[in-house]
Formats: sequence, C-alpha cells, structure tokens
Amino acid sequence: MGGGMKEFLTSLDFLAEVERRAATAGLRTRILGHVTADSGRVPILSLSRKIPGAAPRILISAGIHGDEPAGPHAVLTLLNELMAGWDALRKFHIEIVPLINPTGFDRRQRHDGNGVDPNRSFGSPAPPPEIRYLMDDYRRRSIDLFVDLHEDVDTPGFYLYELSPDISAAFGPHVIAALRAAGYPINEAPVIEGMSASDGLILRTSRSIPRFFRQGSPQGLYMKRLGTRRTLTFESPPRLPLADRVAMQLLALRTVVDRFTR
Ligand SMILES: [Zn+2]
Repeated sequence: MGGGMKEFLTSLDFLAEVERRAATAGLRTRILGHVTADSGRVPILSLSRKIPGAAPRILISAGIHGDEPAGPHAVLTLLNELMAGWDALRKFHIEIVPLINPTGFDRRQRHDGNGVDPNRSFGSPAPPPEIRYLMDDYRRRSIDLFVDLHEDVDTPGFYLYELSPDISAAFGPHVIAALRAAGYPINEAPVIEGMSASDGLILRTSRSIPRFFRQGSPQGLYMKRLGTRRTLTFESPPRLPLADRVAMQLLALRTVVDRFTR
C-alpha cells in the first residue's frame, strides 16, 4: 500500500490525460457540454466502449464532488487497466463519466461553480448545467449497473450505499469482505450520514426509496428511477494516501463487476 501517485490539480490537465488514455484504450470520447471553470471552458466528457452483440451496460461516474479526488484518479488507473485488458469488464458495454464537477475539482470544493451540490440536483426542474447535460444523456440510455465513486471527509474507513432489488443478493458484503481482506479500514459505525448502517453497508431496496426529492436527488436514486437495476456508491476515506484510496475504489469496482458477470 501507499507509494506516490501523481495528483492532477486542474480539471483541464486531468481531462487531457483522460482523453489520451481513453484513446489508447479504444474508448470513444464525447463532449456532453461545457462549463465555465476558473481556468476556462471545461468539457463534461463521457467515454464509452461497446462490444458486439447484447451485453449489460455499466456506467461509472466520478468527480461529482470536487473535494473527492480518488474517484477521478481511479478512472485514470481504470483506463490503464482497460488497455491491459480487464476480462470481466470485456463483457460490458462501458460508459464512464470521469469528472462531473470541474470547478469543484479546481477549487477542491464539494459544490459546483454556482454553489450548488450537483449530487442533490438530478431530476430538479432547474439543474445546474453539468447535471442537465448528464440528465439529457442518461435519459436516452438504459443502464444495468451504476457505480458512483465518492469520498467522505468524515469517514475513518470505506463504506458504500447500494440500491438493489433484493438485499439478500446485495453485492456490498462481497466488496467489504474484499477490502477487509486486503487490509483496508472499514467504517463500522451503526449510523453513517444519519442512516442506519451495518459493517460499512447502507443497503436499500427500491421499495424504501422516497419517490420524489423536492430539490433534486442524488445520482444513484435518479438512475434507479430511470430503471437501473443496481446502483452502488463507494465512499473512501481521505485520511489515507491517494494511491490507497484509488486502489480501494478499484478493488471495490472489480468485486462488483465480477459479481455481476458471475
Ligand atoms: Zn461525494
């Protein structure tokens, strides 16, 4: 564990590296729209790779909160792993949104340039631009598995949210087991972010989800409303070095992908 990792400090530098690696990995890059950040006009990118024939579709999203760099950096490493060939992911149509909130990333802040929490804006009648672009894109797609990469400044260890049709078939316990086996800390608190939790898991079925959020909802709930069967949100602990948090995010992702294709 540990070791250095180059941290990209501006959204434009980060996205330039994403585009380079995506091209090498054979992913198509689309620009969903632009936002005005401190450094200029920054694109909201969506990367994709389709395989021949019918296949489940996975959407991986990162960087919706600007002060949570492990998600975007995990995407960079993931692109390297796609180049090297990641067998389980070859069974999916892949979509990746590497950085949703460029202004937040540049300023190391949770909110976007308008002072809005973008992850409480999905389905809002007047979403901020970056979320409007995503909503327009997501509405035209059918996603089977959605994974959102977050961090939580307050957490001593990894935890996750999962929305699945059946809690007894949740993937989350396998993720926690894999992380624990690798020696990473788990948040074992009985209440996390005001919600009852158990062994790093906040599990819900579709039945217990509030149907409407007045101001807009988190991305995972929005995807669920659009018909995504299973959504997971990972939360890594910023007190660990970035390289470790990236490794945790990728081990969690790998575990979920393996379960899905099993
Ligand atoms: Zn977050």
